[in-house]
Amino acid sequence: MHLYLHIPFCHEICPYCSFYKHKPGKTAQGEFINALLTELDWQLQQHPQLQISTIYLGGGTPSLLSSTHLSTLLKGLNARIPFSQCTEITMEANPSTFKLPKAQLMTQLGVTRVSLGVQSFDPQQLTVLGRDHSAEGAIESYHILREAQLPSVNLDLMFSTPGQTTESWRKTLQQALDLRPDHLSCYNLTYEEDTAYFKKFLSGDYTDLPETNEELYYLAENTLTGAGYEHYETSNYALPGCQSVHNQGYWSGNDYLGIGPSAVGCINQRRYQNLADTAGYIQRIQSLGHALDTHEELDAEAWRLERLALELRTQRGCSTDYLGESDPSALIEHGLLTVSDQRIKTTIKGASLVDSIVEYLA
Ligand code: SF4
Repeated sequence: MHLYLHIPFCHEICPYCSFYKHKPGKTAQGEFINALLTELDWQLQQHPQLQISTIYLGGGTPSLLSSTHLSTLLKGLNARIPFSQCTEITMEANPSTFKLPKAQLMTQLGVTRVSLGVQSFDPQQLTVLGRDHSAEGAIESYHILREAQLPSVNLDLMFSTPGQTTESWRKTLQQALDLRPDHLSCYNLTYEEDTAYFKKFLSGDYTDLPETNEELYYLAENTLTGAGYEHYETSNYALPGCQSVHNQGYWSGNDYLGIGPSAVGCINQRRYQNLADTAGYIQRIQSLGHALDTHEELDAEAWRLERLALELRTQRGCSTDYLGESDPSALIEHGLLTVSDQRIKTTIKGASLVDSIVEYLA
């Protein structure tokens, strides 16, 4: 069982980002933190049997919280879910939002893993991506996390971004390897609706070229696996023993609670989503204790398709039970899938096409 908390604040809004987020504005952050803890109390009352083993603070930019608010939040979490019973406490962070004292506080308060949003080490690309930090700033932030003795650090990177050359991606990967993080996430940019990038994509200013995606995907695969990283999910690479426990829980279909505005949770195949409006969220929590907005029961077919889509992205692959009536033989003949021991897996050739493969099998 896993717990996700959504902290929606960002200093700048990146033009490709489709998560629920906004600048802090006039939000009283102390009230917001109290609302998160109140909602957690409400959820724990509804599900007293839950045993939470991992916690993930995402967003948004959780590292943007002041040291005081971070301290209140993490101490409040620890009082409700003893961190001693958890295997992993992850916090997302952006370069430029912390210095050594805040990073040391994270370690002291029990954070075991930081996921640092770097995206690129190419200054031109950082401008195109609307990032509010420099490449040097990202490197400095990484060293600060190491100095603060954060047990595990992930770097988030993106490829197939507008104007990115193969050489630029190669240099970004090499710079990442020079730092030797425990974990690397390499995401292929997707043009999501309701983003500034999507408008540019629709107008033809930006394009999405499968050949480029494939080339840059394999460049990451070859570079990182050649440097000793295990490619354990389509977008994720880890040094031995450093895989994300929390994310593996999602991919395996474990239950999870979602706390905070827009957060999604799923318990016993019943999925809910909270109100995606921070002011409305705080008000609802103060009056009701929860901010549930929508929910759906996942029937057997919806569950099967979801398992197929998530598990096929992993190195373990997916049980053939989730194929249902789908016939994978054409994909096997084309060298995109293999089946053995009642598990279906993508080949190296199929891995970069996993989304299309899932669509074909659905
Ligand atoms: S910092 Fe992260 S969450 Fe915030 S807008 Fe950029 S990508 Fe989205």
